Amino acid sequence: YVEINKVTKYFSGSRDVDGSKPVLDQLSLQVKEGELVTLLGPSGCGKSTLLRCIAGLTDYEEGDVHLDGQDLAQLEPKRRQVGMVFQSYALFPNMTVYDNIAFGLVMQRLPRKEITQRTMKMLELIDMTDKSTSYPHQLSGGQQQRVALARSLAIQPKLMLMDEPLSALDAKIRKHLRAEIRRIQRELGMTTIFVTHDQEEALTLSDRICVMHEGRIEQVGTPEEVYARPLTTFVAKFIGNYN
Ligand code: ATP
Ligand code: MG
Repeated sequence: YVEINKVTKYFSGSRDVDGSKPVLDQLSLQVKEGELVTLLGPSGCGKSTLLRCIAGLTDYEEGDVHLDGQDLAQLEPKRRQVGMVFQSYALFPNMTVYDNIAFGLVMQRLPRKEITQRTMKMLELIDMTDKSTSYPHQLSGGQQQRVALARSLAIQPKLMLMDEPLSALDAKIRKHLRAEIRRIQRELGMTTIFVTHDQEEALTLSDRICVMHEGRIEQVGTPEEVYARPLTTFVAKFIGNYN
C-alpha cells in the first residue's frame, strides 16, 4: 500500500518570494495493495509532478511517501521497487523485443533461467510471443507501447506508476491496450497509479479516481461516486456530468 502524506512542492524556489502557489499543495492520498487509482485532471494540475515525487525523480519541500510502511525517500533508488511507464516509450532500437524486455532483469543480475522464464511470461501477457526476435522499428506504435509496458512489468515492481502511457496512440489501440493493462494489473495484483486527462479512460479503468485541480485533490472516489456525486463544480464540469 502507498501513503502519500501532505506532499508539497514548489518549483524554482518560488516559495515565499512572491507568494506564488505550490505545484503540489499538502497533497495526501492512500492507495491500497493491488488497487488501480487514476490521477485525473487538466493539463498543468500537477499529475506528472506527483508521479515524479513518488518515483523519487524530483525533490519536494514537505511531506513524505511510504510504500508498505517504508519511507521511499530513505531508500536507495534500486531498493524502491517502483516501476514507471511514460508517454514516450524509448525502446532500445538495436535490441530485439526479447532483449528489451529482459534488459532490467539482466541489470539486476538475475540467474539466466529466471530471466528467460520471466521474459517469456511477459511476452505471453502482452500477446507478442511471435514477435520476440523483431526489432522496435518493425512494430506498430501499440506493439512498441506493449513492449515498454512489459519491460517495466518484468521487474515486478511493488508499485507501478504510469504517466499517460496510451496518449500517443490512436483511439482503437488505446481502448484495446487500456483493457490489456487492466487485465495484467489484476492478474499480477499490482498496485498502480495511472495518470490521465481522459475522463473516459479514468472511468473505465479505475478502482478509484482522484480528481486533481491546481496541485490539490478535489475528490477521491469510485468511478460511480465521482460521476454520480461530484463534490464540487469543478469535478462535475471536468467529469462531464454538469448541467
Ligand atoms: P499535463 O496533463 O499537461 O501532463 P500535468 O498535470 O502532468 O499536466 P505537471 O507536469 O505536473 O502537470 O506540471 C504542473 C505545474 O508545474 C505546471 O504549471 C508546470 O508548468 C509546472 N512545472 C512542471 N515542471 C516544471 C519545472 N521543471 N520547472 C518549473 N515548473 C514546472
Ligand atoms: Mg503530465
